[in-house]
Amino acid sequence: MKKIYDVIIIGGGVVGCAIAWFLSRFNLEILLLERELDVCCGISKANTGIIHSRSYLTPETVKGELHQRALPWFPKIEKELDFHPLVTGALTVAFNRDDLNYLKSLKKIGKYDDTEILSLQESQILEPNLSDRIIATYYDPHAMVVSPFRLTLAFAEGAALNGVEFQFNRLVEGFDLKNSKKIIVKTPNENYEAFFVVNAAGLSSTKLAQQSGDQVPTLSAFKGEYILLDKENQGFVKNIIYPVPSLVSKGILVSPTPEGNILAGPNFESCYDDDTSTTFQGLNEVRAGAQKLIPRFPFDQTIQIFAGIRPTLPERDFLIFVSKKYPGLIHLCGIESPGLTASPGIAEYVGELLIQQGLSLKEKDQIIFRKAFPVFHDCDWKKREDLIAQNPDWGHIVCRCEEVTLAEVKYALNMNPPARTMDGLKRRIRVTAGRCQGSFCQMHLPSIVMNQLNISIQDLLKSGKNSNLFVGETKKVVNAHATPH
Ligand SMILES: Cc1cc2nc3c(=O)[nH]c(=O)nc-3n(C[C@H](O)[C@H](O)[C@H](O)COP(=O)(O)OP(=O)(O)OC[C@H]3O[C@@H](n4cnc5c(N)ncnc54)[C@H](O)[C@@H]3O)c2cc1C
Repeated sequence: MKKIYDVIIIGGGVVGCAIAWFLSRFNLEILLLERELDVCCGISKANTGIIHSRSYLTPETVKGELHQRALPWFPKIEKELDFHPLVTGALTVAFNRDDLNYLKSLKKIGKYDDTEILSLQESQILEPNLSDRIIATYYDPHAMVVSPFRLTLAFAEGAALNGVEFQFNRLVEGFDLKNSKKIIVKTPNENYEAFFVVNAAGLSSTKLAQQSGDQVPTLSAFKGEYILLDKENQGFVKNIIYPVPSLVSKGILVSPTPEGNILAGPNFESCYDDDTSTTFQGLNEVRAGAQKLIPRFPFDQTIQIFAGIRPTLPERDFLIFVSKKYPGLIHLCGIESPGLTASPGIAEYVGELLIQQGLSLKEKDQIIFRKAFPVFHDCDWKKREDLIAQNPDWGHIVCRCEEVTLAEVKYALNMNPPARTMDGLKRRIRVTAGRCQGSFCQMHLPSIVMNQLNISIQDLLKSGKNSNLFVGETKKVVNAHATPH
């Protein structure tokens, strides 16, 4: 007999996974459908990774309300998912009197006792590389940064541990009603049935909402390009350095990452909704923006450039609503910044909408807490010795730059949800994410993955479907033992 789910979630970005984790604490049958081969393959994979503090919420908007609602969730996320954001603090810089007035408004919005407006000299004690043209800064010690992949994965792993089912390579194409209560979710592979459906499909959620007969304004896509520096520069910038925002975005900022890199970006540029290319012009804009804040920004230390796409609605706010045609269907549209920060607040709000629509949320007797797998690179020598004594795979370094071990590769391939592509491995354990960007480990990583997954070399994928790393042989060894002339 066909399984009927209580809730189907469409989309394995940070929002879909946060909703899955939130709902997994209740007695429900939940399925998450994702069109790619992994979670975190959409907007959530390319952003700044800032958990914006209360000072930066946009008052009187849905996104502001859900941002505020999300912040108290982070201590719970630390406890239940063993996931720890890096508290960096943030400086917002003023170059003139108008900017200074904006800094004062941040203090009013944040309502923190320990934030303050600092002179340039005081600011340069915190950040010696700040531009001398700055007249003051607003210092907020509460801002945090996360790895967006790792937050999404922590939600996904926590949800899976508590019974949520994940199915990948499932492109949702539309819906149908089966009697008045059940919704049929259609994919090319098969159809699924549920009493409630949450459309958290990121850039595609408005299209899906329109397909379900609901009226949603058309989405515009705006690209944000980034430059990532090598870890050698760790400490060059310790706080997030925000400019005063423009009318359209938070502006080009500079931020440390939890792994020790430094990130500059993003710009704001109209684009197609699948265009993640970087351009000479866009990267120059990022350079100029970062140098305005930090004139000696060491761009010669760049190891990666990339772009993310904002799904923006004309109102520039989140649009979360119940479908007119399908009372059990909830659409989440326009989840742009601060969607990463707001994700647990969005999940809680979606839970409330589901209750209003008739879903009964009964807490489970027991919730399983996630325990993060050790990161060899972050372990002290004693811990490393203990790990190697338990399992020699911990002593087998696969990626030299990031000191990733065979034990971690095996874990990433076997966890739930598992890595099935090279990028899936990179996002979970940072193999190939370091200074050499895989030049060294890409030589032997493929054979490890082939052996572990029992697949052929042609089946190795870089990222999504049809991204085969190897397509065929270019040379053959005719006689390996022939003596050279
Ligand atoms: C440049 C930039 C910088 C940002 N910086 C920050 C920041 O610092 N802090 C912050 O809080 N927020 C930030 N954001 C916002 C944040 O990244 C997003 O709000 C958030 O990642 C959105 O997550 P999502 O789950 O809604 O979308 P996604 O991550 O795109 O997830 C949607 C998923 O649905 C899948 N999908 C799509 N269509 C279908 C379908 N038909 N069937 C099945 N699956 C489907 C996709 O493959 C995707 O995996 C930034 C965004 C950008 C672009």
